[in-house]
Amino acid sequence: MNSEQLVVAYLIAGVLFIRSLGGLSKQETARRGNLFGFVGMAIAMAATAFHPRVDAYLVIGACLVVGGGIGAVVANRVAMTQMPELVAILHSFVGLAAVLVGISSYLAPAEELEGVEQLIHLVEIWAGVAIGAITFTGSIVAWAKLRGTLSGRPLLLPGRHALNGLVAIAIVGMGVYFAQHPGTDLALYLLLGMTALASLLGVHLVMAIGGADMPVVVSLLNSYSGWAAAAAGFMLANDLLIVTGALVGSSGAILSIIMCRAMNRSILNVVFGGFGTGDAKAPAAGAVDQGEVQEVDAEEVGGWLKSSKNVVIVPGYGMAVARAQNAVHDLTKNLRDAGVNVRFAIHPVAGRLPGHMNVLLAEAGVPYDIVLEMDEINEDFDETDVVLVIGANDIVNPGALDDTSSPIYGMPVLEAWKAKRVVVLKRGMSAGYAGVENPLFFLENTHMLFGDAKSSMTALVAAAS
Ligand code: NDP
Repeated sequence: MNSEQLVVAYLIAGVLFIRSLGGLSKQETARRGNLFGFVGMAIAMAATAFHPRVDAYLVIGACLVVGGGIGAVVANRVAMTQMPELVAILHSFVGLAAVLVGISSYLAPAEELEGVEQLIHLVEIWAGVAIGAITFTGSIVAWAKLRGTLSGRPLLLPGRHALNGLVAIAIVGMGVYFAQHPGTDLALYLLLGMTALASLLGVHLVMAIGGADMPVVVSLLNSYSGWAAAAAGFMLANDLLIVTGALVGSSGAILSIIMCRAMNRSILNVVFGGFGTGDAKAPAAGAVDQGEVQEVDAEEVGGWLKSSKNVVIVPGYGMAVARAQNAVHDLTKNLRDAGVNVRFAIHPVAGRLPGHMNVLLAEAGVPYDIVLEMDEINEDFDETDVVLVIGANDIVNPGALDDTSSPIYGMPVLEAWKAKRVVVLKRGMSAGYAGVENPLFFLENTHMLFGDAKSSMTALVAAAS
């Protein structure tokens, strides 16, 4: 393949990646978006393999078989609720790749550069290795926190901001010396020393962030991994890697901002705030005694549902844990067939990933047009007969609106309590991810249907038919 053909192939792949991102932004077009991304990546890989400078086919073939094999097995095994962990560990690979590309392109440059061109190349190496190292270790810490290997509690060292600032200044200062003395032993030591320093910075930055904010951090690290890949693209003079890295970098940044807005937090507050205890097992310490909750059984709720005109279902993380989406679909279908207006209310941060609930409901075959965003349905709760809250907690917590001492104060929530009746399906009285108690459970119009969401839903399907 000559260089003109390579440019054309890269251009086609780049356009397919943009179409892929566009497609993934809507549920109806997500499948097509995935396909565009898949074809784009296949073209990019094939074109790169046939690049005139590439001849190590044995190594490439072995990597494809081993890497592809591991990827296929892991992707097949991973549960939907473990997706954030998988994404975090994949980002660490991108970071590590950027570090290795940076160091090797310093040790064995593809061509001898001089003057400004050489300076630019050295800056690319320095920036790529620094971002890559932060992404690598930060993502490993995020992965460990998400899977519970490390505690979700933020590690708040005294003077941590000053410490981070000093490390950042040291990285820049060392970089200036590095760029002025290329080719010397000292420059190589500086590069390796900076890699170690940036790796420590990655660990410290993410250790300081609480478990509750980990999904935003994963999305931020996704953005960093994109910029690290773009930097690697500059080092390797590979246009497609630059374009793809920039797409990942900017879409990750936009996603982080969307998630922060949905939680009414600023991105700086997430990165520096040390928010989130990560202890989701117990109600918040010092919680006020809210009284007794009212329990209900599936039989009674079935009767309420059958006699309702309007039903709204609020799915949350517990629905994903219980894998209750198919039973939710069956109940929805039966009720709609019987003339009940059933709709879904999706909070932007329901579950543990943006779009988590939409993916599960789509997988179960729930029609897209009855799955509504928070803004589209929040006004309708006072005309709703029954709201079924399935494994959701923080996203329906009225304390977010009026309790200034609540850590989630200010987060917009689904105002389920305005409905005539609210039925909450969960196993016990555990708090949600933010670790705070939920006054909704103690209201007069709220009834608790205790049990695993899948068993309760299965019982409801029978009771409502
Ligand atoms: P929550 O984490 O607030 O609550 C989930 C509830 O599900 C728990 O209280 C738990 O109670 C219950 N549950 C768990 N397993 C089961 C089961 N098998 N059957 C029935 N119930 C179960 O989830 P939400 O979706 O309401 O809120 C999402 C939280 O995640 C928010 O705090 C949000 O800010 C945070 N977050 C989400 C992001 C995203 O992108 N989606 C990003 C960043 C943060 P019990 O154990 O008693 O059953």
